[in-house]
This record gives sequence, structure tokens and C-alpha cells, in this order.
Amino acid sequence: MEKYDVIIIGAGMSGMAAAIRLAMFDKKVLLLEKHVITGGLNSYYKRAKRDFDVGLHALTNYMEKGEKRKPLSKLLKQLRVPYDDLKLSPQRHSKILFPEKSLTFTNDLNDFAQEIADNFPDQVDGFNKLVSHITDFSETALDNEHILAKDVVRKYITNEELLEMIFCPLLIYGSAWENDMDFSQFVIMFKSIYIEGFSRPEGGVRTIIDILLKKLEALGQEIRFRSEVQSIETANGKVAGVRLKNGDFLQADKVISSMGYPETLSVVSGIAPKQKPAVGKMTFCESILVLDKKPKDLGLDSTIIFYNDRPKYLYREPKELYDPKSAVICFPNNFTHDDFDEGWVRITNMANFDLWNKLERPEYKEKKEEVFKDACSLTKKLIPSWDEEVVFKDIFSPTTIKKYTGHFGGTVYGSTDKSRDGSTEVPGLYLCGTDQGFLGIVGSMLSGISMANLYGLMD
Ligand SMILES: Cc1cc2nc3c(=O)[nH]c(=O)nc-3n(C[C@H](O)[C@H](O)[C@H](O)COP(=O)(O)OP(=O)(O)OC[C@H]3O[C@@H](n4cnc5c(N)ncnc54)[C@H](O)[C@@H]3O)c2cc1C
Repeated sequence: MEKYDVIIIGAGMSGMAAAIRLAMFDKKVLLLEKHVITGGLNSYYKRAKRDFDVGLHALTNYMEKGEKRKPLSKLLKQLRVPYDDLKLSPQRHSKILFPEKSLTFTNDLNDFAQEIADNFPDQVDGFNKLVSHITDFSETALDNEHILAKDVVRKYITNEELLEMIFCPLLIYGSAWENDMDFSQFVIMFKSIYIEGFSRPEGGVRTIIDILLKKLEALGQEIRFRSEVQSIETANGKVAGVRLKNGDFLQADKVISSMGYPETLSVVSGIAPKQKPAVGKMTFCESILVLDKKPKDLGLDSTIIFYNDRPKYLYREPKELYDPKSAVICFPNNFTHDDFDEGWVRITNMANFDLWNKLERPEYKEKKEEVFKDACSLTKKLIPSWDEEVVFKDIFSPTTIKKYTGHFGGTVYGSTDKSRDGSTEVPGLYLCGTDQGFLGIVGSMLSGISMANLYGLMD
């Protein structure tokens, strides 16, 4: 029987990056994907001749060509991808919109500091000290202790409204925890969003996936599609390989899984893991509206709006199907380069997986229509001159996310129990991706690279 050095489960961003890294060093690697396409949470599809991105609003961690020692520069170096291949187009500006106040930020932190000085003059010194603390903090150290971010940030920011506004984009773009997050994760998100910033590759997520696929092909790396791992087999207390749904057994001493922490442990066979990582609750529904006019021609030129219609920002699993009172709205036309012929709006709301999962077919469709109607009302509120003409629409729910990724509860940011060093209690079994602690497109690729370096390249 053929034996692999490493089997990687999942051809999402982290799994593909891990496979590239290992294949570069001539490891005998097998990349297994249960679906027919790559990308996982961050993929794409075609409807009515239009290309839809699933998970891409924006790429975080923007950098200019030639910058060094940035997460994106490390990623490109490790995968040997030229910067220009990403064809990055930076954001114009984004807004945090609360009932009483609005703050604008760009890819230059000075603009955000100025907004804070204008809107919360007594807080700007605290904000600058917070930025110094964040800049000096080593957020990727694998042994950082778990501290709640709001406890730390309150030492610098004493105005609760400003604190909520600062946290809003960071929570909704990357927290598995409700209403707060681990401080290391806060620092990762703060740097990646406020200090480095947003961009979009021309062509959307396809551009990134194509780069990764071409790399894999050039390295002769095999991806086996329609290959769902049913169990991770163990022998003598350590990993022995994986069994696929079709019954095939594939041998390897090391398995790196991007399925998620609880999902991975649930398929371990022969050892009963004592670890019981929680299933994360944060999931979303999204409405995608294709308009006959572009938002900027109707007077709206923000790239992303973080919208909250309550005095306090509630980042949590809603008690109802979805939370219409807060949303992230992305306007993909409003990056500096616009490669669309039509106007696009993507509205993401927090949602409750269990409630969506209980719906039978006709009601499920009706509820999706409700989500869409709320999305239209919000679009009208943000763009009063819009004539309410929608050329095409698509709506996805937490159950769609579960169907296409296999993540329990349709969770997007994974478990609240992370394994920062990627290890599990099963020798030879490692995690990469969201539940190793790095998420988003850049974060999950960096996770795949670091886990490959740590466990796949060290014998
Ligand atoms: C709606 C939405 C919007 C988002 N917006 C952004 C954004 O704007 N910017 C950003 O940076 N990030 C965004 N993200 C987050 C980003 O997509 C993820 O953090 C990242 O893609 C996670 O990658 P991953 O490799 O860790 O996991 P996944 O993408 O979940 O990959 C796991 C892979 O494993 C496969 N798999 C699962 N089980 C098995 C099995 N048993 N056998 C074989 N294969 C299996 C799955 O099919 C999948 O392909 C968004 C996500 C969503 C859902």
C-alpha cells in the first residue's frame, strides 16, 4: 500500500497553502477534498452568467509592493508568489456606522486616529497608547495566555461607545467568541484591518484560488476531489492514515486537518479523544444584490460599511433567525479598481444556525426572501437615491455554509477552543486553518504554511 508523508484534509485556503509548502520540499503529500472545487469557505460559483464570490468581501493585511516583514509579504515569500500576481486593488474607505456616530477609516491608520480625535477628542491619547501597545505585542507567540480583549482595551479607551465602534469590524470579521475576543486575536485583527487594511484582488477570490492551483500543478501535487474523509485511523495510539467515504484506506503517519477542531476529533477512530472543543456559534446569512447602477454613481463610495442600529453593538448568535439591526455591507465596486459591469452589494447578517436548520423547504425560501427584503431596505437607507431595481439576487444561509464546508453549526470562525500550536492529543494529528487560530484568507493560508513548516517539514 502506498504511504504518504502527510495527508492534508480539505482544499480550502489553509489546506492548499500547506500542500504547496510541503510539495516544495518534495514531501509525498495527498490533499483530500470532499467537494468538486477548492476554496472551502472562500470559494466561488456562477449564476446567470455572473461570477459570485462566496467568502470574499475584502482581503485584509494590505501592503504595498516591496514592503517587508508584513504577514502578506511572509505569505508570498513562503509560497513563492510574486506580489503583482495578486493584482490588489486597495479600498477607498470604510465606515463604522452607529446610531449616534460614524467613524471612517482607510488603509492609513492616521486617518482613523484623526477621526477619533474629531469625534472623541478626550480619547485620542488613549487610542495612541493602545496602538503603541498593539504594535509592540507579539500576537503570534504560540504560548500567549488567553486574556479577554475588552479588559485590556478598557485600560486605554474609557468611552464605551468608541470601544464598541473599534471592536465592531474586528469582531464581525474574525471572532469565534461572542461579544469579545482573545487579546492575541484582537491584535491580529487590529493590525490586519486598521493598520494594514483592505484590498480586493482583481477578479475576486478566483484570482487567489487560480494562483494556488497553478502552484500545486507546477509542483505536481495531486488534489483528490470527491474524497470525503470518514475517519482518521489510529494504530498503537497514533495516526495511521485516513479512511475515505468510499472505503479506501490511505496510509500516513501525519495528518493535517482543516476540517475544524470538533469536526476533526469527531472522526478519530480507535482512540476516544478527551478534548471536547466547543462548536462555535458565529455564523451568517448573506444577501447579494446585483443592481443596474453602481453605488458610486448613486453617491455612495464607501468600500465596506459596518452597520449597527443599537446603542450597544451585539455580536452574538441572535435569538431570531438573523439580526437585521446590524450588518456588514460590502460594495465590491468601491475598491480603487472596479472590474464589474453592474453594481454589487453584499449584506451579511449574524444568524442562528439551529433556527435555520429547523425550517422546512417552503418556509426556508420565505425566510430567505425576508432576509433579502431587509437587505433592500438597508441598501435604500444607505443609498437614498437608489431606485430599488435589483437585476439579480442570491441569498445564502448558515445551512448553505454547513452544506459546502462541513463545519458543525455552519460556523465561520470555528470553535472557541483553538489549538494555537495546531497539536491535538492524538500523536500525528494536527490542525490547520481557522481552529489553529488564524482565520480569514490571509490568516488561514499563513496557518497552513506554519503548520506545514512545524509538523510536515520537521522529522
Ligand atoms: C460569508 C463569508 C464571508 C467571508 N469574508 C471574508 C473576507 O472578506 N475576508 C477574509 O479574509 N475572510 C473571509 N471569510 C473567512 C475565510 O473565508 C475563512 O477564514 C477561510 O477561508 C478559512 O479557510 P480554512 O482553510 O481554514 O477552512 P475552510 O475554508 O473551511 O476549508 C476546509 C475544507 O475542508 C473540506 N472538508 C471538510 N470536511 C472534509 C472531509 N471530511 N473530507 C475532506 N474534505 C473536507 C471542506 O470542503 C473545505 O474545502 C469569509 C467567510 C465566509 C463564510
